[in-house]
Amino acid sequence: VADDGKVIARRVFATRHERGGEDWARQTVAALREIGHKHRVGESQIDAVGIGAPGPLNARLGVLTNPMPNLPGWQGFPIGAVLQELTGRSAYLDNDANCAALAEHWVGAGRGVDDLIVLTLGTGIGSGVIAGGRLLHGSGGNAAELGHTSINFRGKRCVCRNRGCIELYASASALVRLYSRLLSRERRRALAEEEITARDVYRAARAADPAARRAFEQVGRYLGAAIANIVHAFNPRMVVLAGGMAGAGGLLLRPVREVVRQSIYPEHAEGLEIRASRLRGAAGLLGAARLALIGDRR
Ligand SMILES: [Zn+2]
Repeated sequence: VADDGKVIARRVFATRHERGGEDWARQTVAALREIGHKHRVGESQIDAVGIGAPGPLNARLGVLTNPMPNLPGWQGFPIGAVLQELTGRSAYLDNDANCAALAEHWVGAGRGVDDLIVLTLGTGIGSGVIAGGRLLHGSGGNAAELGHTSINFRGKRCVCRNRGCIELYASASALVRLYSRLLSRERRRALAEEEITARDVYRAARAADPAARRAFEQVGRYLGAAIANIVHAFNPRMVVLAGGMAGAGGLLLRPVREVVRQSIYPEHAEGLEIRASRLRGAAGLLGAARLALIGDRR
């Protein structure tokens, strides 16, 4: 990524977490060299390396402390130091959702918006908070785990130990779970959850499938309830929904906006915008690059 936010080259590969962090790091550095060579970016032109990774983590030390359930076995992996040694460049680490927030603030929907919340809707729900133009870190560097905002204190137990967290109700996985339940209730073709992706639910909703539309409506209403809590806490100017599900546009945004509007003080509603990301899956990588360009190690 160039310092104006232009993506020069990218390479995508799956993380084979079972092979461990060291193996991943070697594969990553090999990929970096390869794309550098292909796009004529010499190693001397690379200033720094930015890493967006699942939390919780220790950004200051560059260590993944507990990246569960995403990267089992990587607890304590010093990802920053390892990449620094392999590349000979400074490496900067932050939570992938914090990186998404940096990217939206830098070149995305929230460009120049200094009070900004970004929610990444995927397997779980990640988030980053920009307050007064700066990323909010908290005392231990793990602030803004807004996916663990509870909307049901009698709800199911979450990995974080709380109950009824919004990521249990409004992540891409939750959308698929809900759709599959609605389908079987309608006694239509009983699909196993594993056979459906969030994209399938989106396609079905676009084709006016009532179960898919209901699933989006319900997930949007849950998300709206959580965003109302978040808006009261941070009084943001903008909330950006990112991750694959954000591509659903109005299907998701309409119920979200409606519930938020009905659930917050007029003072908080004033000037508030809720938008979908337009960075199409590049938010994590752009934000990691931004992190490295700022050189923010807390
Ligand atoms: Zn939780």
